[in-house]
Amino acid sequence: MNTETSVDTIVIGGGQAGLSMSYHLRELGEEHVVLDASPRIGDAWRNRWDSLHLFTPARYDGLDGMRFPGDPADWPTKDAMADYLEHYAESFRLPVRSAMRVDELTRRRHGDREVFVVRCGDETFTARSVVVAMSNYQVPRIPRFAAELCPDVRQLHAGEYRGPSQLLPGRVLLVGAGNSAAEIASELASTHPVTMAGPSTGETPGSFDSFIGRHVVVHILNGMVFNHVLSVDTRVGRKARPKVMTKGVPLIRVKSKDLARLGVERTARVAGVDGGRPVLDDGTVVDAQNVVWCTGFAPGLDWIRMPILDDRGEPRHERGVASDVPDLYFVGLHFLTSLSSAMVHGVGRDAERIAGLVKAGAAERRLADAEGPLRDRSRGVRRVNRLKASA
Ligand SMILES: Cc1cc2nc3c(=O)[nH]c(=O)nc-3n(C[C@H](O)[C@H](O)[C@H](O)COP(=O)(O)OP(=O)(O)OC[C@H]3O[C@@H](n4cnc5c(N)ncnc54)[C@H](O)[C@@H]3O)c2cc1C
Repeated sequence: MNTETSVDTIVIGGGQAGLSMSYHLRELGEEHVVLDASPRIGDAWRNRWDSLHLFTPARYDGLDGMRFPGDPADWPTKDAMADYLEHYAESFRLPVRSAMRVDELTRRRHGDREVFVVRCGDETFTARSVVVAMSNYQVPRIPRFAAELCPDVRQLHAGEYRGPSQLLPGRVLLVGAGNSAAEIASELASTHPVTMAGPSTGETPGSFDSFIGRHVVVHILNGMVFNHVLSVDTRVGRKARPKVMTKGVPLIRVKSKDLARLGVERTARVAGVDGGRPVLDDGTVVDAQNVVWCTGFAPGLDWIRMPILDDRGEPRHERGVASDVPDLYFVGLHFLTSLSSAMVHGVGRDAERIAGLVKAGAAERRLADAEGPLRDRSRGVRRVNRLKASA
């Protein structure tokens, strides 16, 4: 049965970004609903590989209003993180509707005003503002030439990787050299010969293994560098942003020297497939029985049926305020305002600010509604949004 529900604000995505957004909207008394595609809150974490521990210690893994349980210096498992998010939503009675994948987000005129129309299967919602709250890690990115690999090569994306038992005996080629590749390589090194292909993404200084690493480096990185130094508010952050956006985050926990110690072979990037086998930039054919594509994710926002994406499929925005559509916001995106924007400890700061903008927009609309007929809000949207973004 087709139903249509009207709500002031819709938050799309119910991972840490959506829950944080919901928490701050609730604090401001803004009516909203969170629509999340996953059957259970925390599933984005639950569905990652079995041995994954967060690279941020528990002290940095709590959202606003609730610390992460246990020893603040411990590195939680991905399932503990998932359970924490579920508990967070329950404790604050956040209005999350699970198993609600948004198929389409459009905008239409409704009487004398414009509303967003959010379609989830045969349920439709209308809203005056929408927050797309999710990281850019939604759809696995795999090069086209993957289809040319011999069928006897087992291949999977890092997002499908759960553990060594999924792989065939023999060499594993990890395509990509970012954090996921480094972490998976360090796990596989004890069961398989491993090659990691691709240029270095750089690495953060220091090691987390030492006393200094656990008690000093971790705080400098999470508390200061990721939050305040690598930020759109600093010159160094603005310079680093395009590189981080296209080339990936520097290695944080497993570093080159760890990989060398574990016997992981490093090579040039994979350029294509030759005779069913992966071939490197320098023409070397890699005789691998397994290929794990650690080639990242796309934001997967093509269900937003409005011209808001740039050439790379990333939304155009300023500090989370959509550049082209009024009353549309983003939270949780990579480097939205700082490197920590997509991390647990950084998302709340963005969510709180966007919640304030949502509230201000709602107040402005109430005033405009009281004043009378629709004013053309599309003209000067960019300028208004820029003003809002800098607020
Ligand atoms: C392997 C890995 C390890 C990481 N480790 C850390 C770490 O240690 N510390 C840290 O701070 N950060 C870490 N991160 C970064 C970040 O914290 C996580 O990616 C986190 O899951 C991002 O949360 P999110 O809510 O922004 O997005 P997601 O967790 O991706 O959640 C998005 C939600 O939106 C839903 N959704 C998607 N499309 C739709 C739709 N069309 N309609 C409705 N719902 C939809 C999804 O089902 C999902 O529930 C890691 C990331 C990865 C990939």
